[in-house]
Amino acid sequence: MATFKEFRNNVKPNWCPGCGDFSVQAAIQRAAANVGLEPESLAVISGIGCSGRISGYINAYGFHGIHGRALPIAQGVKLANRELTVIASGGDGDGFAIGMGHTVHAIRRNLDMTYIVMDNQIYGLTKGQTSPRSAEGFKTKSTPEGSIESTLSPLEIALSAGATFVAQSFSSDLKQLTSMIEQGLQHKGFSLINVFSPCVTFNKVNTYDWFKEHVINLEQFPDYDPSNRVAAMNKIMETNGMLTGLIYQNKERKPYEDMISGFSTDGLHKQDLTLSSEQFDKL
Ligand code: SF4
Ligand code: MG
Repeated sequence: MATFKEFRNNVKPNWCPGCGDFSVQAAIQRAAANVGLEPESLAVISGIGCSGRISGYINAYGFHGIHGRALPIAQGVKLANRELTVIASGGDGDGFAIGMGHTVHAIRRNLDMTYIVMDNQIYGLTKGQTSPRSAEGFKTKSTPEGSIESTLSPLEIALSAGATFVAQSFSSDLKQLTSMIEQGLQHKGFSLINVFSPCVTFNKVNTYDWFKEHVINLEQFPDYDPSNRVAAMNKIMETNGMLTGLIYQNKERKPYEDMISGFSTDGLHKQDLTLSSEQFDKL
């Protein structure tokens, strides 16, 4: 069985020292080992942004895609080879702005894969502009007088879109984050894990200290039932979207690929996809 060190490669991340994305990378590597994956059974597909570099830093199959398009690529990978465990990843700008159309439809489609969003509430790679996750009044070079748009709530949107697994964590809490990714990997369906992952260079408001002060761990609510969708929506709204932990899980709904008529549920075999040269010539 692979250890987390076997999910490391020799590429040195070029994130800024202290960037939250380092912990997300470590948590993915630990979770992959803890659930018994091997590097050759995992594919990490990422979008564009600082966080999008993560696919190059993990010893597994990887694909660094285009802006906002990690999810279409990841879904294609999963449908082509269902024996792979697929992680898609990227930032809040990538997934909740240009990629939001894909995010919502991937959630409702419910393929068996895990989507990890590194949510730093700003565009980091392009040197600090307001993102859909930035708070109202947030000042950057793109909103010098403060953002006048309301902040997007990915957790509420995911629940409304029919998500079967919604979790949130904080890159400083490696134990919880690793556990959320493990549970996401083991969930049979689409798992959204939104991770507060501070940008130490450009976001001087939503810092580690700010998140430590504002996150609300679901462990504080021992009676909380993550199978209750209405309770999940209420708790997200009551906590202004700052809660962390497993927020919602529906274990009943089958993943998309298990419901496609004409295909068996035990994987799509290579011969189903491979055309002979004669067949190809006739196309
Ligand atoms: Fe991380 Fe921000 Fe640096 Fe990008 S700019 S690597 S998000 S700290
Ligand atoms: Mg961002």
